[in-house]
Amino acid sequence: MTGTAELLRSVFGFDDFRPGQGEIVTAVAEGENVLAIMPTGGGKSLCYQLPALVRDGLTVVVSPLIALMRDQVRALKAAGVEAGAITSASTEEERDEIWRGLDEGTLKLLYLAPERLGSAGTERMLRRAGVSLIAVDEAHCVSQWGHDFRPDYLRIGTLRESLGVPLAAFTATADAETRAEIVTRLFAGIEPVTFLRGFDRPNIHLAFAAKNSPRRQILDFAAARPGRAGIVYCGTRAKTESLSQALREAGHEACCYHGGMDAEPRRHVEERFQTEDGLIVVATVAFGMGVDKPDIRWVAHADLPKSIEAYYQEIGRAGRDGAPAETLTLFGADDIRLRRSQIDEGLAPPERKEADHGRLNALLGLAEALECRRRTLLGYFGEEVDAPCGNCDLCDKPPATFDGTDAVRKALSAILRTGESFGAGHLIDILTGNETDKIRQRQHDALPTFGVGRDLGKPQWTAVFRQMMGRDLVRPDPTRHGALRMTEAARPVLRGESPVTLRRDAMERKSSGPVVRA
Ligand code: ADP
Ligand code: ZN
Repeated sequence: MTGTAELLRSVFGFDDFRPGQGEIVTAVAEGENVLAIMPTGGGKSLCYQLPALVRDGLTVVVSPLIALMRDQVRALKAAGVEAGAITSASTEEERDEIWRGLDEGTLKLLYLAPERLGSAGTERMLRRAGVSLIAVDEAHCVSQWGHDFRPDYLRIGTLRESLGVPLAAFTATADAETRAEIVTRLFAGIEPVTFLRGFDRPNIHLAFAAKNSPRRQILDFAAARPGRAGIVYCGTRAKTESLSQALREAGHEACCYHGGMDAEPRRHVEERFQTEDGLIVVATVAFGMGVDKPDIRWVAHADLPKSIEAYYQEIGRAGRDGAPAETLTLFGADDIRLRRSQIDEGLAPPERKEADHGRLNALLGLAEALECRRRTLLGYFGEEVDAPCGNCDLCDKPPATFDGTDAVRKALSAILRTGESFGAGHLIDILTGNETDKIRQRQHDALPTFGVGRDLGKPQWTAVFRQMMGRDLVRPDPTRHGALRMTEAARPVLRGESPVTLRRDAMERKSSGPVVRA
């Protein structure tokens, strides 16, 4: 076959493959069944366009995005490749041209909108056309769980079987459930060669910090990056307003953005962000979908995102131009409680809730990580990283750790002895021997656990509880506000079978007082 490297240059005008592209192109060109997971903007389309040129016959591309199909067809034609698209928007003339290309066997790529798959005419046409490859863009649209479900995608598996040709599926959605569903529905039992590449965004610096004084922390972060465009994500609409006000008072150009605003002011903010230098947008997650600004220099989270996927997508808006960009994600026990209860109180079926807790756990694991965050993050997506990245807060300054087994066991004991009915505040009062009214009323000063944790102060215990929540050793009880329950994962720790290493830096006091109390 014609060298792929040569086609890459002569047809597409690129000198090199992007990370992962080369191996995917080879596998698809050789007729393997392929599932390729690459982030948005990673260059997926090349991974089926180039093999289409290498293979004999016609490649059918299924894509839900009409505008994108038309763009691609235009670009391919401009590069001298015979391509066409059949969508609801196609003109008579365009269709005639496609029929001609099919009859003469010169058409190399035919883009089809999913709803075309339902017509008997389409299948007849494809049978005659000598299809040698089916490529499926946005393959997660076949997942019934996802937000982008397209019922017509369910027909693709049947088409593959009836044409008896290899299929290459592409998506940016990396979670294991969706992946499994794609394999079942599109490949019906055949295990495709799976590639997961290009999720690393090496120019983005990753950092997390425990939430101490969130407003101060965000103001400091912004102050260290004067005049640079950034996004601050907040958990509530009200907070976007107050925080953008605070940033303006500190001398920044800042405005807020959330779903409760009218369309016009929202559009105005988007336009300002796009065209002005150095604007800070303080927003809910509603901001970002349509934002295509390559030089966003930083992204901060004033509140913890809802999952590791959401985190990745939000920080990924920074540094699209490849120049250095920075991120900071704040997290605290309140965030964890809020995110847990949002899942518990949602309307999803139980398995779905468990999966959402799992995604939140993955993010908390990243927040409480003890070494290279990038490795932890990419590891979650299934991408291996050989060496620590050198561009995250933990690579910059490895955290001091200590054996926290004893502290965690004391905390678990306090939880169990009080019937799993109390929140962290009261439990810390028990551990530190703080005789509050509530303690006296409940006679918790008579518990054997009362005062066993006097060696640590309240801030240290707060950090221990947060890290316990972060590792899913304890969870808020969805039926009793604020109460913490022990999870299965904590049993081995309680039995002394499994040690727990905690971060010390999160434990240090802000004041210079001694860490150990008399
Ligand atoms: P997506 O993965 O989101 O479908 P695209 O296929 O649209 O991404 O590619 C994103 C951008 O990257 C496009 O502008 C494309 O021209 C560019 N691109 C793809 N492959 C390469 C490459 N090997 N070298 C340089 N640019 C590339
Ligand atoms: Zn690192």
